[in-house]
Amino acid sequence: MDCLFCAIIKGDIPSTKVYEDEYAYAFRDINPAAPTHVLVVPKTHIASIDAVSEENADTVAHVLAAIPKIAAAEGLVNGYRVVSNVGEDGCQSVKHLHFHILGGTKLSEKMA
Ligand code: 5GP
Ligand code: ZN
Repeated sequence: MDCLFCAIIKGDIPSTKVYEDEYAYAFRDINPAAPTHVLVVPKTHIASIDAVSEENADTVAHVLAAIPKIAAAEGLVNGYRVVSNVGEDGCQSVKHLHFHILGGTKLSEKMA
């Protein structure tokens, strides 16, 4: 399957890793939208939140559990935002589930 984030997880495409465990891989966004901008992905291919089901919910829960660890390691003591874009209207450009962790500054109150 031709998936950019699967290639990053495999190491075929380089990335700046910030965290890794059995289920999750996290790396810096190549085009940061905030002083801290980390992408957290499941190591198995899940297309988006729209493909989350009872079958893969355990994996997704492990990925979510990595987020506060990454935020703490990044020093985001004042808070942060987690975003996951889904599909065309959600402006999802990479079709492998990912959670953006954005922080390091006071973020915009605008949600969309
Ligand atoms: P989306 O728009 O799908 O929610 O987010 C995809 C994110 O992946 C974007 O913020 C984009 O900057 C990031 N991105 C795209 N290609 C690469 C890459 O090759 N390396 C890294 N580290 N980030 C990437
Ligand atoms: Zn993938």
